Amino acid sequence: MVVVGGGFGGLQAVRSLRRAPVDVTLVDRRNFHLFQPLLYQVATGALSPAEIATPLRVVLKRQKNVRVVLGEVRDFDLDHRRLVLDALANGDDGLVIPYETLIVAGGSRYSYFGHDEWRPFALEIKSLESALAVRRRIFTAFEAAEIEQDRKRREAWLTFVVVGGGPTGVEMAGQIAELARDTLSRDFHSVDPRRARILLVEASERLLPAFSPRLSTRAAHTLQELGVTVLLDTSVVDLDEESVVSKGPGGRSTHVPTRTIVWAAGVVAGELSGALAAASGAALDRTGRVAVGPELTVEGHPEVIALGDMVSAHDTAGNEVPLPGLASTAMQQGRYAARSVRRRARGKSSEPFQFVDKGNLATIGRAHAVAEIKGIQTSGMLAWLIWLSVHIFYLIGLQNRLLVLTRWAFSFVTRGRGARLITGESAAPATAGTATVSGSESNS
Ligand SMILES: Cc1cc2nc3c(=O)[nH]c(=O)nc-3n(C[C@H](O)[C@H](O)[C@H](O)COP(=O)(O)OP(=O)(O)OC[C@H]3O[C@@H](n4cnc5c(N)ncnc54)[C@H](O)[C@@H]3O)c2cc1C
Repeated sequence: MVVVGGGFGGLQAVRSLRRAPVDVTLVDRRNFHLFQPLLYQVATGALSPAEIATPLRVVLKRQKNVRVVLGEVRDFDLDHRRLVLDALANGDDGLVIPYETLIVAGGSRYSYFGHDEWRPFALEIKSLESALAVRRRIFTAFEAAEIEQDRKRREAWLTFVVVGGGPTGVEMAGQIAELARDTLSRDFHSVDPRRARILLVEASERLLPAFSPRLSTRAAHTLQELGVTVLLDTSVVDLDEESVVSKGPGGRSTHVPTRTIVWAAGVVAGELSGALAAASGAALDRTGRVAVGPELTVEGHPEVIALGDMVSAHDTAGNEVPLPGLASTAMQQGRYAARSVRRRARGKSSEPFQFVDKGNLATIGRAHAVAEIKGIQTSGMLAWLIWLSVHIFYLIGLQNRLLVLTRWAFSFVTRGRGARLITGESAAPATAGTATVSGSESNS
């Protein structure tokens, strides 16, 4: 059988098949499993990329029934039960892999609400590369402010706009605020990083819509205490390299000069969802997720299971079963898919997938988080400790768990961040002029 995607859902399915009498081929276009919930810590210099990503071959090295193939799935030929792969490591395209049973867990991506032209200016945090690009932009902004002579331009460098008030937006805004207030506060000569403005823009009336209104309010208060300006009922209507235009309550339009925009809004299914729908005739919903039935199979193809962020689940009556787009959903579905495969191998049919709500967690900053687990709501230090334990528990690999725990303990005590590197291409903007560096902050 073949599993596409070594993310939360796909990898869980593969690992749950370790004792099953099947040969598994795992296909992914990346050679590593990425722990996306901690990407924002890479983006803000708290963690290094390798601490949240583990090579798939390392994760699966003891699992004898698995073969890992590095390649990008381009097409599904469901009638002939085979996949077509591109971007192979040897430079070839068009490798065909046959299967008897197929599990597809291709994940999601960010949508720019029809404004793909915003993509280069408002960076998303979805892949390691994009997190590193955000990191580069944030740390470059402080460096640029340090040498900027013009007051208005310096303020723009020190203005950070995060779009989207879900967990990732909240986490990013909180981290940038702590970075400016704590980590960098004494590192610069001409500029005071504590004067940075951090704006969190959310189109709906509250942050963290998946949480109770009480915890949303709590999160907003904590962010405000950290120095974040929370703009609710506010939509971004335009942006470019140097500014964001938003429309707030009452339709009031605001123009904010900024050089750093982080995009954390509008998740839609990854492209594999569309390819699977095109091949099977299954429906796509408005966020591009392919419809699957109660056993997570694609209509007309009981041998094809799809799961995780790329699917919308339906019950036996054909009604959608709303499930959160979370790692825990994908992992439960991955385990369920493996169970279905084992049952089928024994000639048994599957029970419908039952989701178990494990709750919601979001961290806001050092010792601040909100948690809602089995109806119990908590915030502050206790929620933060729960958040910390859960993330360490689910992080793949003992080495990464120990490394991350050590880093967090060190950062907690020192308020430092060990991965504040500006790597990659030069981040200097095309519009940069010449300047003379002065010894103190100028008001010109
Ligand atoms: C910044 C961020 C923070 C998050 N924080 C949390 C959190 O705190 N808690 C939580 O529960 N969830 C969180 N999530 C959501 C969680 O990461 C997703 O719900 C989860 O990753 C979904 O699992 P999946 O298996 O469907 O997809 P993924 O884990 O995204 O895996 C998809 C895999 O498919 C591969 N793939 C995609 N297309 C192809 C192709 N064409 N060919 C080959 N391989 C392909 C990808 O390389 C990837 O390995 C966060 C997500 C993000 C982006």
